[in-house]
Amino acid sequence: MKFKDFDFTEEMLQGLNAMSFEEPTPVQEQAIPIIQKGNDVIAVAQTGTGKTAAFLLPILNKIQRSGGGKLNTLILAPTRELAMQIDQQMEGFSYFTGTSSIAIYGGGTGSSFEAERLALTQGADLIVATPGRLLSHLNLKYVKINQLEHFILDEADRMMDMGFSDDIQKISEYLPKKRQNIMFSATMPPKIRNLAKAIMNEPEEVNIAISITAEGITQLAYNTHDNQKIPLLQHLLKDKQDLSSIIIFTSRKSNVKDIVRDLKKLKMDAAGISSDLSQDEREEVLRMFRNKRLRILVGTDIISRGIDIDSIDMVINYDVPNDPEDYVHRVGRTARAKSTGTALTFIDGRGQQDFQKIEELIKMEVEKLPNPEHIGEGPTYKPGSSRGRNSHSRGNNNASSGRKTFNKKKTFDKEKSKSGETNTNTDATKTEVKKKFYPKRPPTQTGHLQKD
Ligand code: AMP
Repeated sequence: MKFKDFDFTEEMLQGLNAMSFEEPTPVQEQAIPIIQKGNDVIAVAQTGTGKTAAFLLPILNKIQRSGGGKLNTLILAPTRELAMQIDQQMEGFSYFTGTSSIAIYGGGTGSSFEAERLALTQGADLIVATPGRLLSHLNLKYVKINQLEHFILDEADRMMDMGFSDDIQKISEYLPKKRQNIMFSATMPPKIRNLAKAIMNEPEEVNIAISITAEGITQLAYNTHDNQKIPLLQHLLKDKQDLSSIIIFTSRKSNVKDIVRDLKKLKMDAAGISSDLSQDEREEVLRMFRNKRLRILVGTDIISRGIDIDSIDMVINYDVPNDPEDYVHRVGRTARAKSTGTALTFIDGRGQQDFQKIEELIKMEVEKLPNPEHIGEGPTYKPGSSRGRNSHSRGNNNASSGRKTFNKKKTFDKEKSKSGETNTNTDATKTEVKKKFYPKRPPTQTGHLQKD
C-alpha cells in the first residue's frame, strides 16, 4: 500500500515525500481509512509504530480540504515532551498545506502562559496540549472549543495513570456533542474502556499490538545487586565508541543525580533529566542529546514517552519499572520505526517479581545474561520466592528455578505460535548483539541458560 491510496491532497503527499515516508505503517494503514470516514476510533498502538502520523495525516488532510482557518482539532497528550513532539511532526507534515497549530504544555514562566493565551485567542487550526495546562486556559473563558470537530487523545493510558481522568472529563464538557473522537493507547485496561464509553461514540477498534514491544529491539537482562550496577555500566559503555546514543532509565528521581555523578567520575559523557529541572533546562539537555553532543542521557519515566529520537543505540533500565507498561515505553525509545536497537535491564532482588510481570505482558522471556567475571554473580533469579525477592546471596540458580523458567518460555512460545505472533528479534540478531557487547563468559555458567 502507498500513501497515495488514501486520497490525500497533493500538498500532503509532498510533505510525506519531504519527510521520506514511503509506505504507511500497519497502524496507519488501518486507522487512516476509519478516520477519513469520520467514525470514532480507538487504537491500541505503542510508541514507535507511527501512531502520531496515523491520526495527524487524515486530520490535516481534512483540515486542508475544508479550507481551514478556524479551530478544528484538539489533541491531548500526557507530557510536554510528547505534546512538543506531536507539534513538530505536525509542522513537518503541514509545511506545504499551510495548516497552523499551537502547543500548550505549561511548565514555563508566566510570560509563556501569556504567549499561549495570545496564540489561543488569535486562532489556529489545531491545538496540541497537556490536559492541566489547557484546562487553566479554558477556565479563564477566552478559548472557545465548542466548534471543534476532532478530539484526539494520545497515550490515553498514560494520561489516566498520571491522574488526568477528571481533567479530560472536564475538557470534554467544553466540546460540542457532535464531534469525531480518536483515542490512541499503548494498552487497553478497563479504565480506558470506561473512558471510551464515557466520551466516545461507538468507536471502531484498531489493534496492532501483535508483539507488545516494537520490532527490531533485542531485549536482554542482567541479575545485579545494587552495588554492581555502576561497574556493569562501566563495563558495557566505557570505550564502546559504536554506542553513541544511550538512555539510562531509573524509576527513582533521586537516582538520576547519583548515576550521572558516578558516570562522570568514570569520565563518561552523561547528563540527567528529571522533573527537578526547569522546562528550559530539560529542553537544552534533550537538544544536546538529539544533536549527538551528549552521549548518555539519564532520566526517569517522564522521558520514557515522547522522546522522538530515531537513532538511540541502547536503552538501559537501571532498575525494573514497577509498571510493566513503563517497560514497553522505555524500551520503545530504541528501534524507532524500522531501525534496530538493544534494551538491557538490570534486575535487582527487589525487581524480580516486577520483571516477571513484564515478561507476561510482552509474552516472551527475556534472556538473562551472566555478569562479567570481574563483577561477580548477581542475585539468583527466582521471582516467585521470597529468597529471590530479598536475597543478596551469590549462589548459582538452582535446577528448579531453571526448570520453571524453561517451562514458562515454552508456554509463551506456544501462545505466540497459536496467535500467529512472531518474535522479530531473530536468534541471529541476538547472538550478534551478545557477541558485540557481552562475550565475557559462556552462557553455560548460569543456571537457567544451562537448562535450556
Ligand atoms: P510514533 O510511533 O508516532 O512515535 O513514530 C515513530 C517514528 O516513526 C517517528 O520518528 C516518525 O517520524 C516515524 N514514522 C512514522 N510513520 C512512518 C512511515 N510511514 N515511514 C517512515 N517513518 C515513519
